[in-house]
Amino acid sequence: MQIIMSIMTRDQFFTSFNEVIHTPSRFTVLSHVNPDGDAIGSSLAFSQMLQKLGHAVEVIVPNDFPDFLAWMPGASSIHVYDKDPDQCDSILKASDALFVLDFNHISRSGAIRNTLENLNIDKILIDHHRDADMSQFRCALSETEVSSTSELVAEIILHYGEQYLDDAIATNLLVGIVTDTGSFAHSIFHPETFSICAKLIEKAPSYNQIHQLVYDTFSENRLRLLGYSISNKMEILDEYATAIISLSKEELSQFDYQVGDTEGVVNYPLSMKKMRMSVLVTERQGVIRFSFRSKGSFSVHELAQKYFNGGGHTNAAGGTLNCSMDAALEKLHRILPEYKELLINK
Ligand code: 5GP
Ligand code: MN
Repeated sequence: MQIIMSIMTRDQFFTSFNEVIHTPSRFTVLSHVNPDGDAIGSSLAFSQMLQKLGHAVEVIVPNDFPDFLAWMPGASSIHVYDKDPDQCDSILKASDALFVLDFNHISRSGAIRNTLENLNIDKILIDHHRDADMSQFRCALSETEVSSTSELVAEIILHYGEQYLDDAIATNLLVGIVTDTGSFAHSIFHPETFSICAKLIEKAPSYNQIHQLVYDTFSENRLRLLGYSISNKMEILDEYATAIISLSKEELSQFDYQVGDTEGVVNYPLSMKKMRMSVLVTERQGVIRFSFRSKGSFSVHELAQKYFNGGGHTNAAGGTLNCSMDAALEKLHRILPEYKELLINK
C-alpha cells in the first residue's frame, strides 16, 4: 500500500488552490536559500504554468544558484534577493499571494526572512520536506513520500491537463526530479515518479542533453576538489558506519570554490557497502554548513534537527552551526555515540 503523508488531502488542496488562482493575479514564487535543481526547476515550471493561466508571476530566491542550472528555461528571469533586495521587497509587497516551493520553514528563507515575517498575504505551500508548520499557509500540498517538489508541481500541472506541459516546463521539472533523486538512485517512493517522467520526457527536447547540461559541466578545479575530498579528507569511523569530510574556507579557496562545487561530494562515501551515514562539513561565510546523507532507515533529518539547527528528509538533510570548524567537528564526534545502535543495526 502506498502511504502518502498528507497534511491536507489533494482534494482539499485543489479546492483551495482553485480559489487562489481563480482571478488573474500577481503572484510570487519563492524557493529556499542555496537553491538546488529542485528549487529552481519546480519554481520555474510552476511560474510558467501560472503564466499560462493568465497570471503575472515573478520567481525569487534568497541567494544565487549554481552555474550548472543557469541554462534552464527561464532561469535568467529569476530575481536573486541578495543581489537586489529593494526590487525583491517591492515585488513581494505588490503580490496577491506567495507560493512557497521546496521548503517549509522560514529559517530556510535566508535574507528574505524579515520581509516574509511582515508579509500579510496568502501563502501556499508546495513541498516535500518533513515537519511543515501548517499554521503559516492558506493551503498546502505537502507530501514527504515523493521524490521532489518538481514531481508535486508535475502532478498539479497534469491535474489541469497535459496540454499545459510544454518543452520548457518539462525540462525544468525533469531537472528537479533528476537532481533530487541523484539520477533516479534514491528518493523513489512509487512507480508514478517514472510514469510522470515518461510524460515529461515525451515533451522535453532531449533527456540525454538535460543530464549532460546538469552533470557534465565540472570545472577542472571542481573535479580536483572532489578527488581531494575523498583522498585526503575522508575520515572513516567504522564503529559508527559513518564517513566525515570537512573542508575549510582555505581548502575551498585553494580549489577556487564556486557556488555548487561541493554539490554531490557527500554522496560518494555512501557508495561503500559498509557506510550508513555520510557527513560533509564546510566552512562558509561565517557559518559551518552540514550536509547529511544516509542509507536505509537511519534518519539524518532527526539528527540535523536535534543538533544542527536543520532538517530535511530521512536520507538527506542539512544544518548549520555558528562556530569554528574544530568546534563543529568536535560536536559531531560527541553526538555519534547516541546514534551508534541505530547506525550499526541494519
Ligand atoms: P543539502 O545537503 O543538499 O544541502 O540538503 C539536503 C536536504 O536537506 C535538502 O532537501 C534541503 O532542502 C534540506 N536542508 C539543507 N539544509 C537545511 C537546513 O539548514 N535546514 C533544513 N530544515 N533543511 C535543510
Ligand atoms: Mn527538493
